[in-house]
Amino acid sequence: MSLPQFKLLRPRNLDEALVCLTKYANLRVLAGGTDLIPSMRQKLFEPEYVLDIRRIAELKRIREQGSGVEIGALTSLTAIDHSDLLRRRYPVLTEAAATVASPVLRNMGTIGGNICLDTRCLWYNQSLTWRKGCGFCIKKDGDLCHVAPGGQKCWAAFSGDTPPALLCLNAEIEIASPSGLRRIPLQEFYSNDGASYRNLKPDELLTRVLLPASSAGYRGVYRKLRIRGSIDYPLAGVAVVMKRSNGHIADARLAVTAVNPRPVLVKGATELLAGKSMDEALAEAAGDLAAKAAKPLTTSALTPEYRREMIRVFAKRAVLEAASN
Ligand SMILES: Cc1cc2nc3c(=O)[nH]c(=O)nc-3n(C[C@H](O)[C@H](O)[C@H](O)COP(=O)(O)OP(=O)(O)OC[C@H]3O[C@@H](n4cnc5c(N)ncnc54)[C@H](O)[C@@H]3O)c2cc1C
Ligand code: SF4
Repeated sequence: MSLPQFKLLRPRNLDEALVCLTKYANLRVLAGGTDLIPSMRQKLFEPEYVLDIRRIAELKRIREQGSGVEIGALTSLTAIDHSDLLRRRYPVLTEAAATVASPVLRNMGTIGGNICLDTRCLWYNQSLTWRKGCGFCIKKDGDLCHVAPGGQKCWAAFSGDTPPALLCLNAEIEIASPSGLRRIPLQEFYSNDGASYRNLKPDELLTRVLLPASSAGYRGVYRKLRIRGSIDYPLAGVAVVMKRSNGHIADARLAVTAVNPRPVLVKGATELLAGKSMDEALAEAAGDLAAKAAKPLTTSALTPEYRREMIRVFAKRAVLEAASN
């Protein structure tokens, strides 16, 4: 599958990148390109301009910022996996980053690209010929959904591994545009529609991820379901963070991925777990709560029932592991 024709823009710094974003319409940002390029080959994106931001050095670092940690959007997933600072303070993030794709893709793939990753569906991540043969759909070129016919919404699943970990850590993101910088909780970045899953205007660029001091030192566990253990996107994923004190759970958060159009922080998980001692019944209740937050449809090769059940199983195992000595 060939790449569509496009003009490549290569800004040397953030200011130049922001000028490009204002000046050129029909543009796509390229970070590591590990998702964008295959999608362009499938003609899912046919931009006139591609903005290659890889020369913006200031977006490639991990550093302490106040009492938290700042990660530039262009930091590779390998750099995150190998960071002693992150492993010590935010282990759920390094664990999730280490499960993305394969070593080669993690060398190229960035945290910004992982956060902005397009949603996925069996009917969408296909070649143009395949999609033409089956009929297009709401997410690209069509007006119906093959997964939930009759509805007007796209249910393609958000399938990034690091966002559930970041949600558990109460991460914020910084977004730059020609009118300045804005900082928002990561949770507000996503919307529950697979066709417009992220709140990012055409002239905006994700620049940094900010991890608060208040989440540092929490134990963390990330578990994912995938078909090929060595490389695949998650078809269900669970992240857990937990702080313990005197044998009790002082605080905990759970998030799920790949089972909704956005990654979801599980409502009520903190209230369920905080102040208790972990046992089988509590772990099962956490599993049930996580499964309730999962609303998978037939967007992947595995059935929705199985993916939802695996969310329950992973969440139970993950809280037991996070609470163990
Ligand atoms: C075979 C294969 C397996 C994979 N398995 C996994 C997996 O297991 N888990 C997983 O999470 N991902 C997986 N991926 C997807 C991908 O490799 C990762 O998600 C990676 O982190 C994407 O980062 P990138 O820098 O390459 O993004 P790109 O491909 O460069 O960009 C992805 C999207 O984000 C936008 N974007 C990127 N950076 C910014 C920014 N700073 N501001 C605004 N928009 C931006 C791009 O325009 C594009 O729409 C897989 C990919 C392949 C090909
Ligand atoms: S969920 Fe429906 S609209 Fe969305 S990509 Fe799949 S078939 Fe298309």
